[in-house]
Amino acid sequence: MTAKMYYDNDADPRALAGQTVAIVGYGSQGHAHALNLHESGVKVIVGLAPGSKSRALAQEAGLEVVDVAVAVKRADVIMLALPDTSQKAVYDAEIAPNLRSGQLVMFAHGFNIRFGLIKPQEGIDVGMVAPKGPGHLVRSVYQAGGGVPALFAVERDASGTARARTLAYARALGATRAGVLETTFKEETETDLFGEQSVLCGGTSALVKMAFETLVEAGYQPELAYFETLHELKLIVDLMYRGGLNFMRFSVSDTAEYGDYVSGPRIIDEHVRTTMRQVLKEIQDGTFARNWIAENEGGRPEFERLRARDRDHQVEQIGATLRSQMAFLNPVVVQAGQAQAAAGTKGAAGPTSSTASSSAPVAGAPRDAVREAAR
Ligand code: NDP
Ligand code: MG
Repeated sequence: MTAKMYYDNDADPRALAGQTVAIVGYGSQGHAHALNLHESGVKVIVGLAPGSKSRALAQEAGLEVVDVAVAVKRADVIMLALPDTSQKAVYDAEIAPNLRSGQLVMFAHGFNIRFGLIKPQEGIDVGMVAPKGPGHLVRSVYQAGGGVPALFAVERDASGTARARTLAYARALGATRAGVLETTFKEETETDLFGEQSVLCGGTSALVKMAFETLVEAGYQPELAYFETLHELKLIVDLMYRGGLNFMRFSVSDTAEYGDYVSGPRIIDEHVRTTMRQVLKEIQDGTFARNWIAENEGGRPEFERLRARDRDHQVEQIGATLRSQMAFLNPVVVQAGQAQAAAGTKGAAGPTSSTASSSAPVAGAPRDAVREAAR
């Protein structure tokens, strides 16, 4: 049995007819949601803090910007497009006190609902549309006529319209052009955290670093080790993306394929499986969330220590030099993002917030793209 996918025809735009959608936050996801919905014919207002630097950007794009509390009062649907670690404070201070029955509060990731930081009062609908891609692509793919796939979930349907409105939102965002899958806040949050920790971010960067270190320690040239363990990874992953593991194995040599079968499972062995299960358990039982929340409450000392430790890893230093000669990699935004990442300016208050303070050549780079490139 395959899961049901929802496409344009499964989502009725009339569910949002006459309604106002407030997008709170105008960062990576926020700007994409606001602009895509606006261009899809939905009435959109943007909620931002009085001093927010993003006010001008949203206004230049033709959107109406108001304070968060005002946006909440005027809206029928409220999307929290804020960093997960800022959502609770903004919700408690400015959103919750202004909510009324019948409104739909939406999220782009389930963290704050799943771990109980935000508990919408009775009578409030709770939904999610979580795009499976970075914000700048949610925007640019929509502009090109396509869409980024998404997950949707309805946590509470007090009004009886939450599901239809959530699907209509996904359609206006462009997501139903690509396909939308129904999930729960629990499933979305737990799998998202597990995926980024085990494979996408954590597992992959640890694997790259360890393989690089192993080669360099054995006396091989670091430049060669960089090409072998980091650069070429993208080329291999592209094959997997296009046609799965089979297509990758079809494309590589038989020697590489044989080595894949005999050595891969020795490296990623049953010990790794045991650890993965433990990592998943700590996500499910809330240990990871508790630690991350405490880390934020304490000003992120451990996070900053870990970030600083990895920033100057040899694979990064060698890579920066080699990539500086690969002009084809370098649309302006990538260079800017790298410079931003190298300068460590993706700050705690919001990764996009301190671009301007970097001496990096970021002028002209859309801030969202800079930030995504820096991720
Ligand atoms: P961003 O970090 O890009 O959000 C930045 C926006 O939030 C800015 O407008 C910023 O204000 C505002 N903001 C930050 N801190 C505060 C605060 N304390 N008070 C008020 N406003 C604040 O967030 P993302 O777009 O990355 O994430 C939004 C949601 O989308 C999250 O739930 C995330 O998990 C989810 N998501 C993100 C993806 C991505 O591509 N990044 C992918 C899928 C889901 P200012 O403009 O003034 O700086
Ligand atoms: Mg994810």
